[in-house]
Amino acid sequence: VILNRVKKLLAPHASTPETRRRMQNTRRRDTPAELALRRELHRRGLRYRVDFAPLPGVRRRADIVFPRARVAVFVDGCFWHSCPQHGTRPRENARWWTEKLEQNRMRDADTNRELDEAGWLVLRFWEHEDAVATAATVLEAVAARTST
Ligand SMILES: [Zn+2]
Repeated sequence: VILNRVKKLLAPHASTPETRRRMQNTRRRDTPAELALRRELHRRGLRYRVDFAPLPGVRRRADIVFPRARVAVFVDGCFWHSCPQHGTRPRENARWWTEKLEQNRMRDADTNRELDEAGWLVLRFWEHEDAVATAATVLEAVAARTST
């Protein structure tokens, strides 16, 4: 059963370089949105780990991590995480993409749950959100969780 599932999710032939590029870049780091947020946080004096696995023994990584405050920040790409405003489903290989994106959605939910159960605060932002506003939200959360 597992083998079947793996086989089904193997990428179909990508007919254009654009599709191929998209298929390969499931997990991108240092996206412009991430860099903008990191810059804003740094400017506000916050220090953090980048692309870091918050939970020992769990391979899931967060984009920006505050270990002491136990705050994990994700900057979700609008395409890969199906943003309600900008998420699209490519028409080519539609079935494969639907499964792939649904898998991402389930993995996000699973990551949230694991971190939450371990006492972490999970903050998720869309890549289209304003870095200054999101930085303010992060700062507030980190300050609240380190002030005691
Ligand atoms: Zn978006």
